[in-house]
Amino acid sequence: MSDLRHHLAERLARHLADVHQRIAEAAQAAGRDAQSVKLLAVSKTFPADAVRAAHAAGQRAFGENYVQEALDKIQTLADLRASLEWHFIGPLQSNKTRAVAEHFDWVHSVDRLKIAQRLSEQRPDSLPPLNVCLQVNVSGEASKSGVARDEAAAIAQQIAALPKLKLRGLMSIPEPAAELDAQRAPHRQLRELFERLCNDGLALDTLSMGMSADLEAAVLEGATIVRAGTAIFGARDYSR
Ligand SMILES: *Cc1c(COP(=O)(O)O)cnc(C)c1O
Repeated sequence: MSDLRHHLAERLARHLADVHQRIAEAAQAAGRDAQSVKLLAVSKTFPADAVRAAHAAGQRAFGENYVQEALDKIQTLADLRASLEWHFIGPLQSNKTRAVAEHFDWVHSVDRLKIAQRLSEQRPDSLPPLNVCLQVNVSGEASKSGVARDEAAAIAQQIAALPKLKLRGLMSIPEPAAELDAQRAPHRQLRELFERLCNDGLALDTLSMGMSADLEAAVLEGATIVRAGTAIFGARDYSR
């Protein structure tokens, strides 16, 4: 291994350990088992080498936002495919659903029935059902995407009925907030919606919420997947 690669591997292993420590402390404060929170490493804008180094440090689930960038990485890392999961977490347009249905294990950002229908139709029969989350717009969601809270139940029921999808739960990207209490409020709203859908009979097991800056708040409110990019890979450079 070259010095540079060795350095990258060490730094990523350290950052991953730090994030796992943060999750463990928040889980303990919430009286939860830390194993019930899965870490999704958001690798968007970072090269395949960074994903490979994180994989070598034990990380298995990776999140990507841009279809073409992700496909390039998935191809470059084909030798690891059996031992890692690819999660699509970015805005998804109709003309990109086929590539996502064919190459990903999860989609967190389903925000329209039409997108879900296309993913189901285009999921190859040779693959297991695609795991999906319905993205919900809680309190002025920063990305402005996601279904309104009062529409979520009806759309979730329709998605759950699609043959080649497995509706796992809900996802959100709340407006950033500095204080813990303010961070917790939208996560709590998503969890309450999740509980309502479960009471309505949907078999859901996933709350995808919390990013680098607010993962403690998300774990305290019941997140089962936290999506961290910056805390693992460092600041993103969009200029390249
Ligand atoms: C980029 C991104 C993340 C990671 O954000 P960080 O603040 O870098 O941890 C998480 N979720 C989604 C949907 C993203 O687009």
